[in-house]
Amino acid sequence: MDTSILLFTRDLRVRDNPALAAACGAGRVVPVFVFDDAILGGPFAAPNRVRFLLDSLADLRRSLTELGGDLVVRRGDPARETARLARETGARSLLLADERSAYAARRLARLRELGLEVSVLPGITVVPPGDLTPASGDHYKVFTPYWRAWEEVRWRPAVDAPKEVRLPSGVEPGALPRLAELVPGTPSPDLAPGGETKGRERLEAWLREDAAEYDRVRDDLAADRTSRLGPYLKFGCVSPRELAGSAPDAFRRQLAWRDFHHQVAAAFPGLPRRDYRPRGQTWKDDEDGFAAWRDGTTGIPIVDAGMRQLRREGFMHNRARLITASFLTRDLGIDWRLGLGHFNELLADGDIADNAGNWQWVAGTGNSTRPDQVMNPFRQASRFDPRGDYVRRYVPELAGVEGARVHRPWALDEDRRRHLDYPPPILAPDDR
Ligand SMILES: Cc1cc2nc3c(=O)[nH]c(=O)nc-3n(C[C@H](O)[C@H](O)[C@H](O)COP(=O)(O)OP(=O)(O)OC[C@H]3O[C@@H](n4cnc5c(N)ncnc54)[C@H](O)[C@@H]3O)c2cc1C
Repeated sequence: MDTSILLFTRDLRVRDNPALAAACGAGRVVPVFVFDDAILGGPFAAPNRVRFLLDSLADLRRSLTELGGDLVVRRGDPARETARLARETGARSLLLADERSAYAARRLARLRELGLEVSVLPGITVVPPGDLTPASGDHYKVFTPYWRAWEEVRWRPAVDAPKEVRLPSGVEPGALPRLAELVPGTPSPDLAPGGETKGRERLEAWLREDAAEYDRVRDDLAADRTSRLGPYLKFGCVSPRELAGSAPDAFRRQLAWRDFHHQVAAAFPGLPRRDYRPRGQTWKDDEDGFAAWRDGTTGIPIVDAGMRQLRREGFMHNRARLITASFLTRDLGIDWRLGLGHFNELLADGDIADNAGNWQWVAGTGNSTRPDQVMNPFRQASRFDPRGDYVRRYVPELAGVEGARVHRPWALDEDRRRHLDYPPPILAPDDR
């Protein structure tokens, strides 16, 4: 019977995992995850994401064990570890999910040099980058035409979880490391737990309770009724293809945004570093402004609430991401790359393509068709947190201020202001 190696990367699930299904259907399989020293040594190994990853791997190991197999865990260089496992087990083929980041492309090139028969299968996006191209050019630069094409194209069929995972005998599975062995630092106190099981619970609860109203409530900051599936999609604990089949239109559109950024990043690998559409901007050198933004002490409550949500949960509501990113780049005039770096340190869903694509979109250097659009934080606060509940939830110093007055603490009478332990605004508020 043939043996193949299934290299997990960011597709940490057993359901609708085409590479895993194909490997299990072909004979014995060695499902392996390699803690890659090159990634662990870089900015992408933030404690929140590594914690989420460890949860996801523990859950994946449980699922594979229930199916008769196990998850083999190694640390080092993925190509070297794959070669070693192939020698130990006599495996002649390697399967993995199709991923198009610059790093994934280099990794794949090295895996192809091992002399194994390599199959790359979809699973990380609904539509793989490069599958849709406009008549002119190698990728879509504007979202709306991409969305139209994305809706029309035939998606691959979803696949079932394998019925059985047959691991060759004699393979030492290896222990899952502890967080402290992988990265320094502590995760956010209210970080969501990782894994396919938790992801599916979240998905089912959201489909039952919130999906039907997604379009109406997705911008309501205090309601907090978006799916919160971001980190589960980032690590592949839930399948974007499966979701696209069951979610309402407005939500599918968000999944298309995700695919859109992935195809931009595949065609323009410099996305996290270089302006996609350079417009000759110059950025201010403002260390104090940046520190106040990062720490949630700007004195602009809606901005501070978002930044503190990020620190507390490793997550921030999309509307707050837009407001805080606009404030940093448009109001403080600080380089989007600094904002991206801070988001990347904390977001459990922090992803090269989505983080950089969105930062550039807000900063006006990316794919927006309205690159001069600026979001006034006060108007945003009135629209999307009209009663001030989001601010009170994340800024305890303002918990006693009633209603929408919480958005303008400087307008309270002097006596009350003096008793608030909250900083004055770092910029004169333009709160028309
Ligand atoms: C400055 C900035 C940085 C961002 N960084 C990231 C990031 O690193 N990783 C990330 O996944 N998303 C990022 N986003 C997009 C979006 O904010 C998050 O995907 C969303 O808030 C996650 O919460 P949710 O799962 O509840 O979203 P929902 O509203 O429930 O949306 C469902 C899914 O659709 C996808 N999605 C939604 N909006 C977008 C979008 N604008 N771009 C790409 N995908 C989207 C996500 O996978 C999300 O989980 C960023 C947005 C901004 C403005």
